[in-house]
Amino acid sequence: MAIQPEVISRPDLELSVVIPIYNEEGNIETLYEELTAALESIGREYEIIAVNDGSQDRSYQMLNGLQTRDSRWHVIHFRRNFGQTAAMAAGFDAARGEIVVTIDADLQNDPRDIERILDKFEEGYDIVSGWRQNRKEPLFLRRIPSIIANRLISRTTGIRLHDYGCTLKAYHFDVVKGVQLYGELHRFIPALASQMGVRVAEVPVKDRARHWGSSKYGFNRTFKVILDLIAVMFLLSYFNRPVYVFGAAGIMVGTVGALLGLYLTVFKLLTENKIGDRPLLQLAVLLMVLGVQFISTGIVADMIMRTYHESQHKPIYFIRERRRSASRYEENVPLPM
Ligand code: UDP
Ligand code: MG
Repeated sequence: MAIQPEVISRPDLELSVVIPIYNEEGNIETLYEELTAALESIGREYEIIAVNDGSQDRSYQMLNGLQTRDSRWHVIHFRRNFGQTAAMAAGFDAARGEIVVTIDADLQNDPRDIERILDKFEEGYDIVSGWRQNRKEPLFLRRIPSIIANRLISRTTGIRLHDYGCTLKAYHFDVVKGVQLYGELHRFIPALASQMGVRVAEVPVKDRARHWGSSKYGFNRTFKVILDLIAVMFLLSYFNRPVYVFGAAGIMVGTVGALLGLYLTVFKLLTENKIGDRPLLQLAVLLMVLGVQFISTGIVADMIMRTYHESQHKPIYFIRERRRSASRYEENVPLPM
């Protein structure tokens, strides 16, 4: 029997820290010490959710050891390597904290920065993102692609962040439970959450060199990120009613085609000229067919979105808070005289 993911639907703790872990045996002990010191000095009640993403090294044994040593640690072991996004999604499902913080296991983020992130969070934000200063990574392979990606995502989503790629971030419970992740989408959570109407802030954080081991990613991640970016842009702009976008294009193109066709018809009827060999005729036909295609693609996309919303009970709105006085029809509530 497969173990079903446990999805917590109400927060009952102050803070959850989610850590994706893939072959990090050399980092786990230091991570435990630095994290425990940092979190205990903050003084909030917390839980750690360590997600072992199918590590082949001794991470399995070490995490189990930590879990028996410290009951605040929860460990989820994947059956195989599903990727960092899946690991974070598993952590989000299991998280019970009102605030959910994500951090890398390799200590490139400094756990002591969590306190400043939480302070910012308390000012009333839904997402607080770390912004790595003095990046230690190679300029051409990592930092320049990352600058371009950050600009693009910021521009298209309206959520302006300098460092989408920084794992050290804090999210409100509602945010992590509300976004659906796949691919390499974890870095786009603030963008995806922009739909929900989130308030987002940034806090500068330290960037350290990897403590032990090597990065799990190569240059080919850049391509995945670009494709994810396109998918996210599409999702965000066409989300609710794709037919509006495709339909508008269809109507415009189709109208131009129809006008050209009309012109040719009138031209043919009024003058005795042939129109069969005119390139304009081909253009008119092309545009009309294209218009019909656009509109029908829009309708199909619309139906797909409908299935998506209805089958998963996806809301089309998100509530920040609700206030209501007790109903006068409830028992024991006296009616005002
Ligand atoms: N990671 C993971 N699954 C993977 C790859 C990475 O859980 O398939 C974890 C990894 O253990 C680390 C974090 O994700 O805690 C970030 O990975 P890495 O440091 O290799 O990425 P980089 O810092 O180079 O972007
Ligand atoms: Mg790293």
